[in-house]
Amino acid sequence: MAAPATVPTNPAIEPEFEQAVQEITTTIEPFLAVHPEYRKALEIVQIPERVIQFRVTWERDDGSVAVNRGYRVQFNSALGPYKGGLRLHPTVNLSVLKFLGFEQIFKNALTGLSMGGGKGGSDFNPKGKSDAEIRRFCYAFMLELSRHIGADTDIPAGDIGTGAREIGYMFGAYKRYRNEFAGILTGKGDDWGGSHIRPEATGYGLIYYVTEMLRDLDNTDWNGKRVIISGSGNVAQFAALKVLELGGTVISFSDSTGSLISADGQGFTVDDIAAIADVKLKRQALTEFDHSGRFEWHEGKRPWTLFESADVALPCATQNEVSEEEAEGLVKAGVRYVAEGSNMGCTQEAIDVFEATRTKIQDAANTEGICWYAPGKAANCGGVAVSGLEMGQNSQRLKWAAEEVDAKLKDIMVNCYTNCRETGKTYVKDSAVPSLVAGANIAGFEKTARAMKQQGDWW
Ligand code: NDP
Repeated sequence: MAAPATVPTNPAIEPEFEQAVQEITTTIEPFLAVHPEYRKALEIVQIPERVIQFRVTWERDDGSVAVNRGYRVQFNSALGPYKGGLRLHPTVNLSVLKFLGFEQIFKNALTGLSMGGGKGGSDFNPKGKSDAEIRRFCYAFMLELSRHIGADTDIPAGDIGTGAREIGYMFGAYKRYRNEFAGILTGKGDDWGGSHIRPEATGYGLIYYVTEMLRDLDNTDWNGKRVIISGSGNVAQFAALKVLELGGTVISFSDSTGSLISADGQGFTVDDIAAIADVKLKRQALTEFDHSGRFEWHEGKRPWTLFESADVALPCATQNEVSEEEAEGLVKAGVRYVAEGSNMGCTQEAIDVFEATRTKIQDAANTEGICWYAPGKAANCGGVAVSGLEMGQNSQRLKWAAEEVDAKLKDIMVNCYTNCRETGKTYVKDSAVPSLVAGANIAGFEKTARAMKQQGDWW
């Protein structure tokens, strides 16, 4: 009998990373019970192949010098070159980036494309900075990062704080430093190597994933569904637009200052979402969106407990944005589906609340009271999937039509969902409804660990 995997992490200094490791470790146990030889792989996969930390000095508009910490975690390259976003946010530290990079390994495996896992960023806060300051920061950041990435090595992308503008500056910096026009970043501009549908991909992909859940559990679709969304950035906006297109109603948005809700249930229109996108492009608070009294503003609140009833909840802001109490509130409000657009949107305690509603169901014909949970590493993999498609187009020096990319995205999300569901069914027999969190973790882990073994990372 193989020894149980040790957990070489330190919760005192890396709480987010420890949380991500614990989630994987617990949920893949049924798989390890059948395949104990994979315990060694679990121990090995927790340690990044490489962590790069560096200093970023840049010039403020007043001529003074500012300094930030820069990082790139090259976590796992078993399935392809390192791939994962760059986060620019004051909360960025090694624990956060290791958690994101770790999750990214399994997420990328679930897309079915050839991508390893990585993540990077800086504790630089883009809020309140001028355009020139952002440009100077991006150039300074890329000065060091450019030594470590490459079209066949590591291909970063956007994340919180890194949008189209920042990707443009970073790409321009790399091109100048290396005299090389190469596919070293994804999320590039439409006219210089970007893919159609990349901005939309995470939000659209999330909705395609939940579409499959709706069909399987209730034989239903988005028509008439009331959807609570948190966040008001890239993922939230495009998820909301797709919900509207498919006949649902979006009843909330939020940001780091509070939540805007549609108390009368009328919901946000396409024009409202365009106006919110404008506000967010200027990096302003949601309160700057002129809603003419049609919506209620809840200062400092998240949206989860602000409704008496709803059908679907989509966390699309940041990690740990749904607590145990908020999860209980969602269940009480009759929400039947929770799917994460954000990475690790729910705390472990919140996931336990959702999973407990699932394990109560022993008869597929009676699923009353369930609140079926889909983890971010599966439900939000559409973003990195289209990044993978952008890499493919760059290699071919071709650009596919938007319809073609969207159709491929849909296929990837349907396959990802089916893989999670079937793997969950195979290994976890605790309910008539499969655990998508166990299914996602086992499927992503098994694929990665198998490739690591074949490449001699463990034996
Ligand atoms: P954006 O920067 O576009 O938007 C982030 C949103 O979340 C903003 O509304 C922001 O509010 C809010 N937010 C950020 N931090 C907090 C906080 N601590 N508390 C409350 N609200 C917060 O990012 P994205 O939409 O791109 O990303 C959202 C989530 O989705 C992240 O977890 C990201 O990792 C994940 N994700 C993104 C992908 C992508 O393709 N963009 C791919 C896969 C996952 P404010 O404006 O006030 O800062």
